[in-house]
Amino acid sequence: MSSLDSRQTANDSLRSIPAMDELLNSPWAEELSAGLGREQVKKIITEVCDGIRRDVRGGANIEAPVRELAERRAQELIRLRASSSLKPVVNATGVVIHTNLGRSPLGREALQAVNDIAGRYNTLEYSVQEGVRGNRNSHIEWLIRDITGAQAALVVNNNAAAVLLALSAIAAGREVIVSNGELVEIGDSFRIPEILSFSGASMVAVGCTNSTRISDYSNAITEKTAILLKVHPSNYKIDGFTTEVNRRDLAELAASRGLVFMEDLGSGLLAALDKPFAHLEYSVKDCLEAGVNIISFSGDKLLGGPQLGVIAGSKQLIEKMQSHQLYRALRVDKMTLAAFEAVLRLYLSGRHKEIPVIKMIEADEKILLKKAQRLLRIIKQKTQSLAMDDLAVSVVKTNDAVGGGAYPTERMPGFGVSLHSASRSAESLAASFRMSSFPVIPGIQDGQIILHVRTLLDGDEKIIASSLEEWGARGG
Ligand SMILES: *Cc1c(COP(=O)(O)O)cnc(C)c1O
Repeated sequence: MSSLDSRQTANDSLRSIPAMDELLNSPWAEELSAGLGREQVKKIITEVCDGIRRDVRGGANIEAPVRELAERRAQELIRLRASSSLKPVVNATGVVIHTNLGRSPLGREALQAVNDIAGRYNTLEYSVQEGVRGNRNSHIEWLIRDITGAQAALVVNNNAAAVLLALSAIAAGREVIVSNGELVEIGDSFRIPEILSFSGASMVAVGCTNSTRISDYSNAITEKTAILLKVHPSNYKIDGFTTEVNRRDLAELAASRGLVFMEDLGSGLLAALDKPFAHLEYSVKDCLEAGVNIISFSGDKLLGGPQLGVIAGSKQLIEKMQSHQLYRALRVDKMTLAAFEAVLRLYLSGRHKEIPVIKMIEADEKILLKKAQRLLRIIKQKTQSLAMDDLAVSVVKTNDAVGGGAYPTERMPGFGVSLHSASRSAESLAASFRMSSFPVIPGIQDGQIILHVRTLLDGDEKIIASSLEEWGARGG
């Protein structure tokens, strides 16, 4: 094609970009604009047409008729913007406390509590007995005290905030002694050395990565020391030759030198789990009984509640934190407190085995196998009726994980359904599941995708079946 021809085609293409009104008044635009409003739809159409204009001027080869292309792109973008960005997904990864997927899903009681409180005025900071201002912490403090044996407790936005507040209130301008084996990074942003320096305390790291003795702590104590800090290593474990100082010895040392013994426990285990590896994690109560003065933990890990951080322990120290300026910036809102109170009441009444993440962790293997067999039947029915002939499906054994930094190296034997295609890669199958209107997030192992049944909630099988239907309809 000569350059004159191509310029003419480009001009034709530019001319056939439809006018705003033409697109805006087409039936699909009227229908799709219901959720977004006409102004947003106008913006999207402008964006799409400008994009095509840029492509054409930049010399891009446009295959489809320009009008169709504009319509298709506009429809896709409108659909995308009209649906919520934060949306529910099916967690088929087998990782129970999955930070990227929102950690612990809330159970019925917690959801009901949020529903009852959030749309109404409430007693967040009000005492109905006295008709005066109350304290937002009072709703949950007595529950935490009762369940953990702590003298006092305070709730903030997350465990990172809990650690920051505790260090700022107790150790700013002073020294905190911590083992080199516990200078961990959790997730991609919580690093013990950095939080320590942000709090205004200075860190004194002692011992070696794999071995820290009580004498390492005692030799490092100076008149500037405020805290002996213990941190749960969460996402890693050192095997082989290791020495770690136990809590009782650290508590004794701290008490004898007038220091605070603080622990960042990470996952808030409130009651022992029924698992062969359960003894590998200490509960909040165990730690306090061993002499920890101040403990902090997350609400949305093993505890099974909403995102928050709890600080529990010495009444005098908790009061200091509550009157610290930082507390005002870190306090939680009514929805969090409503959900948390409901979850704590399940622990109080001995019904904590009903909490979704605890049910998943304690799920019986035989029941998981049945669940996997049922899922296999549902998937087979779908793939047959949709003539997805090249999909091979079978029940497989899986290694599931607790996640959330607890039991980092333990795996729970579980079951799942594996899907394998002769013509498509595992990544492409996984993408099809992810891109469904209700996304399904599978696990991938040895080049196969696996739907782990441990982390499926009631009704998720149906969503998986509709996802297959959608990609059947799309042709992949
Ligand atoms: C998870 C974790 C944190 C961070 O808790 P968030 O609630 O996510 O802020 C801090 N310390 C430890 C040991 C953890 O496991």
